[in-house]
Amino acid sequence: MIDSKIKIGVLGIQGAFAKHISMLKNIGIQAEEVKYHEQIDQFDGLIIPGGESTTMSKFFDEMKIRSKLIAFEKPIFGTCAGAILLSGGVADPRVNSLNLVPIDADRNAYGRQTDSFIADINLEFDPKPFRAIFIRAPKLSNPAPEVKILGTFKDDIVLVCYRNILLSTFHPELTDDSRIHRYFLEHLVAESYA
Ligand code: GLN
Repeated sequence: MIDSKIKIGVLGIQGAFAKHISMLKNIGIQAEEVKYHEQIDQFDGLIIPGGESTTMSKFFDEMKIRSKLIAFEKPIFGTCAGAILLSGGVADPRVNSLNLVPIDADRNAYGRQTDSFIADINLEFDPKPFRAIFIRAPKLSNPAPEVKILGTFKDDIVLVCYRNILLSTFHPELTDDSRIHRYFLEHLVAESYA
């Protein structure tokens, strides 16, 4: 059971943040858009949604939210650009990542021809595949040994967990399947929510 009092903040910088909020509300918990750094401390967990990681990186500074995110000790879920921004190794100098997960993220790694695609991915915690939507997705590589690989598509790592941070290179909020959000709430947020 997921406690209905759990409150998740979804960074409202860019991207499909409203879809994350409706998915969390459908699961039965509280969810709110984060616009100001002053809001951050009230949440039991955060989602950094997709968008353009270069632009979002700048917003982190303009919103004065960067140090708040780095200091946030509760669970964080980053999807697509959000995953890039949490990764340690981002080659693009325009992205000043939060460097919270020891893994490399290569932006737009599927190239122009396969800008966006839908594919069934394998989950480590559920035998039923997940139909994942990839939109100009990054590829994750060189995970440190403590990084748990939770989802793969062919040879690619598409879902990982490191301590209380979850990264997906796809957009689980754009489907009707709430298993990834539930995993975040049940395994990461519930752990730290007393
Ligand atoms: N291509 C984007 C980036 O590099 C990510 C795309 C997305 O979030 N859907 O930031």
